[in-house]
Amino acid sequence: MSARDTLFAVLNVESLKNFLQGRMPEALEILRQMVGINSFTSNREGVNRLGKFTADCFAPLGFGAEFVPCTNDQFGKHLVLSRGGRSGRNIAMISHLDTVFPPEEESRNKFHWQPEGDLVYGPGTVDIKGGTVMMWLVLSALRELAPKVFEEITWNLLLNAAEEPLSPDFGDVCRRCFDNQTMAALVFEAGGRLGDDHLLVVSRKGRAAWRVVVSGRGAHAGGKHSHGANAIVQLGKTVERIAALTNYPRDLTFNVGTISGGTVGNRVPHEATAEGEFRAFTNEAYQSGREALLALAGPGDVRSPVDGHPCQVKVEIVNERPPWLHNALTDRLFQVWQQAGEELGLRISPEERGGLSDANLVWDAVPTLDGLGPWGDNDHCSERSADGSKVPEFVEVSSFVPKAALNVTAILKLIGGS
Ligand SMILES: [Zn+2]
Repeated sequence: MSARDTLFAVLNVESLKNFLQGRMPEALEILRQMVGINSFTSNREGVNRLGKFTADCFAPLGFGAEFVPCTNDQFGKHLVLSRGGRSGRNIAMISHLDTVFPPEEESRNKFHWQPEGDLVYGPGTVDIKGGTVMMWLVLSALRELAPKVFEEITWNLLLNAAEEPLSPDFGDVCRRCFDNQTMAALVFEAGGRLGDDHLLVVSRKGRAAWRVVVSGRGAHAGGKHSHGANAIVQLGKTVERIAALTNYPRDLTFNVGTISGGTVGNRVPHEATAEGEFRAFTNEAYQSGREALLALAGPGDVRSPVDGHPCQVKVEIVNERPPWLHNALTDRLFQVWQQAGEELGLRISPEERGGLSDANLVWDAVPTLDGLGPWGDNDHCSERSADGSKVPEFVEVSSFVPKAALNVTAILKLIGGS
């Protein structure tokens, strides 16, 4: 690699931007076609079709494709795109194939590719098909403008088939591509914005999904009311205790998401269930929340008046992903992007985000930075109301070029500086 290559983007900001601008029609056409393929997580066929289309888009850049079955066979296949470099040094780029929108919801809400001024509305425009297109733009620019650097590095593009339900096996797919020469895992979820500042994600909350099942004692509500131990009444008390574990100053939140129980009105109910989640940024808050939740298990305080038979409260953690903690390796990557921003006249700031991403799966293995996709908003929303109070997911078209220029410049600095 020559010093000239590393400096190229720095010295030729305008030609970099011109190159990227010239690729935008093709980038938007790729995005349009991706958005046209419904890839709701449970639409296995759609996810696989998008995977195939994505592989075709990157093939001209020299990427070979491998489709890896998800451990949950309800879901489509993960996609690994690789291009071997001359050196052992490698960089991972991470995105996902799935969206949260079932096909019926897309047609019911007429939610499809819809350009309007500088915005394009549509399912996955910013979460995360726009991010995958950002990867394509960045790699196209590197190949064209810094070919020696592009060919020196081994690139692994990792696309999760089931990111939205937090499929944990994708972490193993990523780790198989990591080694001690992995320079970074770059995650292309949407970028943030605060005033004029571009926000990159440097940590994310952890999340645990939980289930509480209360077993009481069923009884005839007329003849033997006092024999019953009412599971719903017990669950009502228990979910209030769970809700009270929320601690905003500690950024620890509990949500009771669903509740069900009982069978018919003339029975004292013998069973009731609630499900929900909790989230936290720090290990301390996460672990203390976990312990407090699990401590609610055991005999309850609702008992049968006849013999004191107590309701039993069972608490289980259904699945969990601990927080992506603040760490020095991420900070170092962030600084590279911040310096690149200075050269491009962009102010870059760090963001801690409440939602999870695949970064939660990989940050403890390799240096990780997230939020490298374009800017947009209202992800996970498909509704539009006449009064404008509901607006669906969109991406801002003009956010692609400056963000791609930032990513290209930063990647060149990262490679050149180590
Ligand atoms: Zn996403």
